[in-house]
Amino acid sequence: MAADTSTAEAVKGDGAQQGAKGKPRDGRAEVSNLDIVRHYFDLAAERTQLRDDLREVFWSPYREVSVQIPVKQADGDVHVYSGYRIQHNGARGPYKGGVRFHQEVDIDEVRALASLMTWKTAVAGVPFGGAKGGVNCPAQDLDESELQTIARSFMDKIDKVLGPTRDIPAPDVNTNAQTMAWFMDEYGKLHGHTPAICTGKPIELEGSLGREAATGRGCVYMFREAAPQLGLSPAETTFAVQGFGNVGSWAARIMQQLGCRMIAVSDAYGAIHSEAGIDPDELVRHLREGGNLAEFPGAEQIDPDDLIAVECDVLIPAALGGMIHEGNADRVNCRVMIEGANSPTTPAADAILHEKGTYVIPDVMANAGGVVVSYFEWVQNLQHFRWEEREVNDKLGTIMRRAYREVSTRAKEEGIPLREAAFTIGLDRVVTASKMRGYIS
Ligand code: NAD
Repeated sequence: MAADTSTAEAVKGDGAQQGAKGKPRDGRAEVSNLDIVRHYFDLAAERTQLRDDLREVFWSPYREVSVQIPVKQADGDVHVYSGYRIQHNGARGPYKGGVRFHQEVDIDEVRALASLMTWKTAVAGVPFGGAKGGVNCPAQDLDESELQTIARSFMDKIDKVLGPTRDIPAPDVNTNAQTMAWFMDEYGKLHGHTPAICTGKPIELEGSLGREAATGRGCVYMFREAAPQLGLSPAETTFAVQGFGNVGSWAARIMQQLGCRMIAVSDAYGAIHSEAGIDPDELVRHLREGGNLAEFPGAEQIDPDDLIAVECDVLIPAALGGMIHEGNADRVNCRVMIEGANSPTTPAADAILHEKGTYVIPDVMANAGGVVVSYFEWVQNLQHFRWEEREVNDKLGTIMRRAYREVSTRAKEEGIPLREAAFTIGLDRVVTASKMRGYIS
């Protein structure tokens, strides 16, 4: 796989795309992220024959912190946002998980995402537990100074439950390396310079080479593992991306480096299609120069709801949770779906895809690249020593390949979908760690 992509500019979130684009679209299912994750947790609990009394131990979060974040508006009024940090399970190591700034963040969504991190770190085999954070602010409508105020205020209020050996935040939707720099700086005011307090930091502030592209790159490692099994050769592979942010744009660029062709892509404001191909590097440039995705030259605009129905080999949902649901799953027209986003597929949609024979590589394994390189960044910070990008990417590849092989072997052995196999492996590992620590017998 080609290296040296970390220096290229990235597309990040909606914040950089505000202005003339109007109101972002949603299109999500009614079913909550919490219901989605609970469904798969229950399947794994059944499969591992977890005792009923222990289900609550492994389902409910260890600690939930809820804070208020007052922000003075331009008109002088104060608006109070809600912020959450939820630590789900720390049996395998310090809590780890991103922080999301989005108007639809609520405590149940953060609970779901925190739980997903517990199983994801276990499937990847990195020594972390699971956590997640979020602030219910409309990040795409806020300017940089408002975002900084929110980031610092959030850190100031949750710092007591964080720490490099306790809980280590990272970026998620609408947060980025700049947000992590503010987090680190604010934490440093209280505790002294502590780069290992968060990951996904700027390279100039002890971030890791390769971190920004890691989640997208990890998705591509999944494709590389699955492709030979499915008879797909990269030069003949077409793909579509829903959500051209950090994960989606990097996955697209690295897929293109492999020789694959992107034929459709969307963001919160529109979608485009071109059988001849859409160059993700050019699209990144276009967006960074202030262009709209929907007006990218050489491609036709399509209804964003039709993105998932474009016939292609690989579909990469990389936007929000619940985008593929009972009402639209039968329209999915790909051979492989690689879940870059967290919980993009509801259980009902998952069953429809299974019935159709779509090969789904689930979030809990497919998008683990981010947390894996976050782990590398944390290790580098603790050692105060920087690794070369090639080393980061190679080690990421080793871990992603191992995760894919372990999950697909279990899936084959037990005749179950990859998602159920991944959750089962994750739960097994967390239960084993808890037993060894003496938390449960
Ligand atoms: P991001 O904010 O950089 O990008 C999100 C993208 O989705 C943006 O382009 C936005 O315009 C688009 N979008 C939002 N609503 C949409 C809609 N209704 N239709 C189409 N596009 C829409 O966020 P990100 O960091 O790339 O995260 C994307 C997903 O990947 C999230 O589910 C996140 O939890 C998950 N994830 C991210 C990481 C990471 O390292 N950043 C790691 C694991 C999982």
